[in-house]
Amino acid sequence: MSITELVPLPDLSRARRVLCFQPHPDDAEIGVGATLCVLSKRGAQVILVTVTDGGMGTFDASLEPTEVAMIREREQRKSAAVLGIEEVVNLGAPDGGQISEPVVREEVITLIRKYRPDFVMAPDPWLPYEAHPDHRTVGLAVAAGVLFSPYPHISSGGEPHQVQGVAFYLTAHPNTFMDVSEGWRAKFEALAAHRSQFDEATLSLLEHYLTARARAWTKEGFLTEALKVLSPIHLHVNVDAVNL
Ligand SMILES: [Zn+2]
Repeated sequence: MSITELVPLPDLSRARRVLCFQPHPDDAEIGVGATLCVLSKRGAQVILVTVTDGGMGTFDASLEPTEVAMIREREQRKSAAVLGIEEVVNLGAPDGGQISEPVVREEVITLIRKYRPDFVMAPDPWLPYEAHPDHRTVGLAVAAGVLFSPYPHISSGGEPHQVQGVAFYLTAHPNTFMDVSEGWRAKFEALAAHRSQFDEATLSLLEHYLTARARAWTKEGFLTEALKVLSPIHLHVNVDAVNL
């Protein structure tokens, strides 16, 4: 017997309110931008939380990190508008491997209790070979935050709230393949708003690669952003989680 016969995987396509966390401006667009666009077109409320200010995201030593952060905040607002995201939250933590999991986890719990989403999203912290510590830290903080947010004695911020599911993007173990073709053009329009990060050549390369990758996940070949969706109960003492 599989654990999903006892506790089925939650259905992301029915989400009404999604709280999506990203370590830096542009991560969500790369991993889950078309899905966010499709969900918001279908009437879901999407709130995008950017954990760090992205201030390290430049190769230009003459640019101050505070300037980079300001540019990236503007780009993120533009991009979110393209995707139909209703609200953008910036936690403004320092970029470049300086955030700690317990501190981010507190913020995650507070935001889950404030917005009371049915789904939460984050980069998969268990992506093999992910070298960027901010991605691993945010993913872990969100996974723990999803687990802890219903417990009244854990964390002081807000009324306890249980989400239905967590959807990890940029995952190597996907189990959910929504057809997000109708959001595909918007995904790359949104990515183009991040001018400080992507020139025309990089954008074109990204579009080529991500589109081919998106079609390769399923036999049918529709455009998808493969996700690992789990319910909170799947996230603890579960030896089968990797295969669900
Ligand atoms: Zn990132």
